[in-house]
Amino acid sequence: VDAETQQCTFAELSLSAPLVRSLHEMGCERPSPVQLHTIPVALSGGDVIVQAKSGTGKTIAFCSVVLEGIDTSVAGASQALILAPTREIAMQISDELERLAWYLDPPVDVGCFIGGVSLEEDEEKLESGTPHVAVGSPGRMLKLLREGMLTTDARFLVLDEADKLLDANFRQDITAITELVFTKQLQFLAVSATFPPPLVALAEDLFVHVEKKRASRGQPVERDLPQKVFLCTSAVKKDEDGVNIAIDESGEELESALLKGVLHVRHVLQGYHIRQKMPALLEVLTTVSYQQARNRFGSLEAFVFVGDSNNAIQIAEMLNQAGVPAAASSGRMEQSYRTQAFAGLKRFQYRVLVCTDLMARGIDAENVDIVVNLDLPTEKETYLHRSGRTARFGSVGWMVSLVFEGDEAEHLNYFQVQLGFELVDYADREAAMSSRL
Ligand code: ADP
Ligand code: MG
Repeated sequence: VDAETQQCTFAELSLSAPLVRSLHEMGCERPSPVQLHTIPVALSGGDVIVQAKSGTGKTIAFCSVVLEGIDTSVAGASQALILAPTREIAMQISDELERLAWYLDPPVDVGCFIGGVSLEEDEEKLESGTPHVAVGSPGRMLKLLREGMLTTDARFLVLDEADKLLDANFRQDITAITELVFTKQLQFLAVSATFPPPLVALAEDLFVHVEKKRASRGQPVERDLPQKVFLCTSAVKKDEDGVNIAIDESGEELESALLKGVLHVRHVLQGYHIRQKMPALLEVLTTVSYQQARNRFGSLEAFVFVGDSNNAIQIAEMLNQAGVPAAASSGRMEQSYRTQAFAGLKRFQYRVLVCTDLMARGIDAENVDIVVNLDLPTEKETYLHRSGRTARFGSVGWMVSLVFEGDEAEHLNYFQVQLGFELVDYADREAAMSSRL
């Protein structure tokens, strides 16, 4: 795949000159494997389901397809809807779209519609013009569609972090949105770094299901099943020699969704209360070596994950008191704080973002060296997404889990077996990292 990538340019993937120019200015000369495999398939018009590792450029893959496929000389209705499970991811996608669309003429109008911002603001925005591309979180987008505030003539429906959007919490909203904007021409793109088989089945079924509902009785459904571009898998099995191999649902061997640049570290502690992990956290943040270091502190940048919103705020406070610039972000905090924390991290204003799994997926902060689990997630997919906040686009990084002896340490071992990575003990971390570099 690397050899293929080296030989191909974005222009050869049939992207138009204005897009190639912005890509160049964004530092993207050659398509990444997911872009190489997704863009042509999607440009030829089919529905596509994509699974590719964290930080490998899925956003540019679907945004460039959308920008090629819409007609900016037509106004008055959104031609593409892009949905994401968190408001921060939606904001990030609309920023990326605007950068990518910079040289398109007539210009592209991108709108971002997220919860936590007043509905009146959205209404005002929409009264002054309907954007060509509407990006947003499911709740707010559904509301705008239902109330007739957002008019669509949709050619694309994109689900970023699609497995998350199709799981129980969001599924009803997604189905309702799909029903509201469905046309026979509507093209469906669903992408994620994790795609457990039941969720692939749901993604495959979504459009067929909606088309069936639309079709008058007895009329056959004409839609083909989506094509699958699966470049990795999170499913791991042991081969005859007991070695972990990554296998997709059809039994085909695929690359593991684990990032090669991430070193997984286990730090076992004594205790029972999260507060007792503070000394170890401070030590990790001050002693672990780092590579990225492009922030104004000239020091490492970290995501610290906790299970509970209140703990996020407390831990950030304690870090600030200890002289480590930190911000907190969780679903229970007001959107203005969340936006500020997110923007601050991207602008290198903070060294540490203490957060819940709200931030586990999709967030692209390029110089994050280390992800710390103060609490472990419940699901192995979430462990994988958290680890994908570092080592983005081929860089290296740490995933350090601070676990109490007992159940927590065992749960970490379970992830190791289920996902097939190798855990390094805290004491051996630097040696393990230098042997990797
Ligand atoms: P994903 O959604 O797959 O996790 P992103 O789309 O957020 O990953 O991309 C990760 C980073 O890689 C972004 O900062 C993006 O600008 C960068 N990137 C994407 N494609 C390319 C490319 N072809 N060349 C160089 N950098 C790229
Ligand atoms: Mg992404």
